[in-house]
Amino acid sequence: MKVIGLIGGMSWNSTLEYYRLINEEVSRRLGSLHSARLVLYSLDFEEIEHAQHEDNWDNAANVLVEAGVALKQAGVDFLVICTNTMHKVADLVAERTGLSLLHIVDVAGSVITEHGLRRVGLLGTRFVMDESFYQEKLRIGFGVEVLVPKQTEQDVVHRIIYEELCMGKIEDVSRRACLKIVEALRGRGAEGIILGCTELPLLIQPDDVSVAVFDTTRLHAEAAVKLALGE
Ligand code: GLU
Repeated sequence: MKVIGLIGGMSWNSTLEYYRLINEEVSRRLGSLHSARLVLYSLDFEEIEHAQHEDNWDNAANVLVEAGVALKQAGVDFLVICTNTMHKVADLVAERTGLSLLHIVDVAGSVITEHGLRRVGLLGTRFVMDESFYQEKLRIGFGVEVLVPKQTEQDVVHRIIYEELCMGKIEDVSRRACLKIVEALRGRGAEGIILGCTELPLLIQPDDVSVAVFDTTRLHAEAAVKLALGE
């Protein structure tokens, strides 16, 4: 089994889910007492969040590269960045560490394509919904068209992620607000919904939504296990 290198702590609430999901998947596949071989480098999210909101992506990237280099020295075989947003600098992290990296958008794009869907709604931080790095990769790499919420709705989702979910707060009123936004995307023709923030599955479950839900935390964790097992 290969050793998975997790760059986490963005926030730690979703990194806990990665740890659980990865181990559950290894146990499901291999049985008995098997568990994942992994090394976790968990960052101080306050530092990353400041850099993001100050538009200082070089600083944020440097912190991730440093973590990646430490993981390489610890002997990991590949990297998994446990957040959608920080995939904005994923190519740089791969390049500067010299490690291969399991990109969260490649994982989401493959599964959406397997489901035969061509047009999906995307929820995530403002950086994920509003900037091109995520949408373009889905469009160019997989031919998937992405619908994003309108600006005021994006503000709502962004606030819920940073002020509640990343701090471990799960509020019914926020769930209802997000589901209303999902409903609007569905009304505009979304055939499925990407939970493009690794904390969103703490708030929204597939049963809450009438179309296919792509939970990037679970999909990324399961893909990491497949890669670790050489599948
Ligand atoms: N974990 C979230 C994501 O998947 C948000 C935190 C971050 O900005 O990295 O995008």
